Amino acid sequence: MMKINVKAPAKINLSLDALYKRPDNYHELEMVMTTIDLADRLQLVLLEKDTIKLDVKAHFIPDDKRNLVYQAAALLKERFSIKQGVAITLDKSIPVAAGLAGGSSDAAAALKGLNQIWGLQLTLTELANLGAELGSDIPFCLYGGTALATGRGEIIKPLPMMPNCWIVLAKPSISVSTPGVYRDLRVGEVEHPNTAGMVQAIQDGSFEGICDNIGNVLETVTLAKHPEVKRIKEKMLEFGADTALMSGSGPTVFALVKQYSRAKRVYNGLRGFCEEVYLVRPWQEEK
Ligand code: ATP
Repeated sequence: MMKINVKAPAKINLSLDALYKRPDNYHELEMVMTTIDLADRLQLVLLEKDTIKLDVKAHFIPDDKRNLVYQAAALLKERFSIKQGVAITLDKSIPVAAGLAGGSSDAAAALKGLNQIWGLQLTLTELANLGAELGSDIPFCLYGGTALATGRGEIIKPLPMMPNCWIVLAKPSISVSTPGVYRDLRVGEVEHPNTAGMVQAIQDGSFEGICDNIGNVLETVTLAKHPEVKRIKEKMLEFGADTALMSGSGPTVFALVKQYSRAKRVYNGLRGFCEEVYLVRPWQEEK
């Protein structure tokens, strides 16, 4: 029986800028993203029968065509006329609808795993092009590590690894609609983060440079609408975070902290305010 396990790590946005609205109604984006050590797990088992089976070990997440993992399998099957099947088990750890690209990372992991199990021999670039058909964050999730993402987010330029630090994540129990946040964004009226500065900081391996250039243009929308997100960010800074920022369209906020003792203080402090709090590190590629 051919069986493989794949990890699907979450991402955070070290910077997120929307430059302008394009004729196709998407925003032209500039994002610096990095994968973190908080991951879903997928197990893929090859089936000789021509079918896609998906078992999701989490509540309230669809296990049918609405799931990005299912869509990834269906896309490969259709595009390459695959007559074999697969049984996928998805074990969720990444908070859902959080701004951490959980679904996109699951889809990326499924594409990677299926490429292996169905013997497709597709390159990373080919997988990324297929992934982009399903979601703009999927190409980044296929590359992983730290990268600059432009266009709708699907054009990826890999960058050096994030300098080591601690990351505290806190997700308030509210939901935000990503299309709604982009709809309410006024790109002409807001302060824009310095993407070039962030790229330089990553290239220099400078933790201080990262803290100086951190920024997310979508905070202007989500923080104004949800004061609890702003409060979490303020609390993180009060408890000693070196910097704090909302990831994606939110509502998750993350803090970067150099020192473990301080990270622990931020983590413990936040647990009083928020049900879902995590203390993690940047993702290290497994050898
Ligand atoms: P992003 O940062 O890309 O906006 P997100 O963290 O905000 O992602 P997800 O957790 O990826 O959001 O999922 C949002 C919605 O997508 C969920 O409400 C869920 O119904 C649907 N979905 C489809 N596939 C998945 C999946 N594999 N895991 C979680 N949600 C999924």
